Amino acid sequence: MVCGRIGDGIRSTRGLGAWLGFVAALVALTAAEALAAGHRTANFIIEAPTEALARRIGDAAEQYRHTLAVEWTGSPLPRWSRPCPITAQVAPNLGAGGATSFVFDRGEVFNWTMTIQGSEERILDSVLPHEITHTIFASHFRQPLPRWADEGACTTVEHPVERARQHKLLIEFLTTGRGIAFPEMFAMKEYPADVLPLYSQGYSLARYLIERGGRHKYVAFVSDGLASDDWSSALAAHYGVKGVAQMQHVWLDWVKQGCPAPPASLAAAVPPPAASWSAVARGQSPDSAPAPNPVPAAAPVATSAARTSVYAQARRAADGGTRKSGTGVD
Ligand SMILES: [Zn+2]
Repeated sequence: MVCGRIGDGIRSTRGLGAWLGFVAALVALTAAEALAAGHRTANFIIEAPTEALARRIGDAAEQYRHTLAVEWTGSPLPRWSRPCPITAQVAPNLGAGGATSFVFDRGEVFNWTMTIQGSEERILDSVLPHEITHTIFASHFRQPLPRWADEGACTTVEHPVERARQHKLLIEFLTTGRGIAFPEMFAMKEYPADVLPLYSQGYSLARYLIERGGRHKYVAFVSDGLASDDWSSALAAHYGVKGVAQMQHVWLDWVKQGCPAPPASLAAAVPPPAASWSAVARGQSPDSAPAPNPVPAAAPVATSAARTSVYAQARRAADGGTRKSGTGVD
């Protein structure tokens, strides 16, 4: 359709002015096309630079939605009453990032919107599974999770390169006074001013817990903690750790030891991720540098029940965040 209209313009134009007019029209049409390419699946409406990309992102989103829901909760999600719009900016050197927002009201969740950006590879192997996990948790719990438990778990489904980056950042934060004390972290319902340590510490703790009990147990633990608002009892019941402060001690010891794999008996009880999960993900990428152009933090949504979960916030200067007394390794 677009080419046909341009073709008509070529035949009817004469002279430089007309030619420049044609070029301007071409640029405008190309830009319009870049924004307009879309694809629809059962649960998503994807807008991407090309239809082929929109299709690949939609197919991957559906596959992650199915596979990760089974991984986390044991069963697939029912079809949403309304699809989740995904707006994807895709370019080879675009920093990876994403944000998903939704609204909780009386035990229901709706008004999904998801924006994602990055290289195609990183979108498919990290940003998308991360954001889809947010939607699975929102659909399952029907209420906000503590941020560390939400972001931490979502980061565990990213590509190994991204997870390694979080671990590297964690060590940096813990050795520069930016660790967050667990009693404070467990009580956080919103993002702190110094947000990056929440991501890396949340990821590390979620990884520790999941390596010891699997994803289903993690979800059961979060369910109990949400229901009772007594995270110490939930930790004791599911992981045999006597309280939040003790958890910090145990976890910090584990980090100091280099995050060793759990004893074989515990590891054997944790099933590996589903094969189809890694089938979606792309191969290794040498791109381990911090995202040069991450998405800015999403604007707060008016209603207090609204929830936005951000994959990668605007990176703050390494020394620019709020210093907190909290956890740390020396
Ligand atoms: Zn997130």
